[in-house]
Amino acid sequence: MLQVAGFLDNSTVNGKGLRSVLFVSGCNHNCIGCHNKDMQDFNYGDRVSLDHILNRIQHNIPLISGVTFSGGEPFEQAQPLTTLAKKIKDKGLNLWCYTGYTYEEILQSNNRDKLNLLKQIDVLIDGKFNDKLKDDACKYVGSTNQRIIDVKESLKLEKIITLKEV
Ligand code: SF4
Repeated sequence: MLQVAGFLDNSTVNGKGLRSVLFVSGCNHNCIGCHNKDMQDFNYGDRVSLDHILNRIQHNIPLISGVTFSGGEPFEQAQPLTTLAKKIKDKGLNLWCYTGYTYEEILQSNNRDKLNLLKQIDVLIDGKFNDKLKDDACKYVGSTNQRIIDVKESLKLEKIITLKEV
């Protein structure tokens, strides 16, 4: 089960291509200027089964090219999201994820659940939202400190590889 704040069947602004977007509840980052303050509450929204979410996603195939996890903070529900992520990948969809943690913080956390989720993700948009850095931010990020990271390449090469063309 997941605590879910919202779901978009198809969106073009939460990652490349047409995507379904899952917003999970709960976040401790408390970014200044957070656009999703309601979703900081870990009890916001509804308890939803993974099967229910997968059915919603299935309805959008073949229109969508992928799924995006957002929030809230997806890495606070890393264990069920890892299970969901594997099933999403089995459907041939790519996976993007927004997080207030930096890539380095996740790696250095030594938290097995967080690391397992990271390994399922294709593209990670990392770092806290910074209201003062939002003006020149590109289409998929909220503020310019956030990076669009190719997770598979970054893990393989053991250094951060950002996506050049998105
Ligand atoms: S990480 Fe996202 S949801 Fe959490 S406080 Fe920052 S902007 Fe808000």
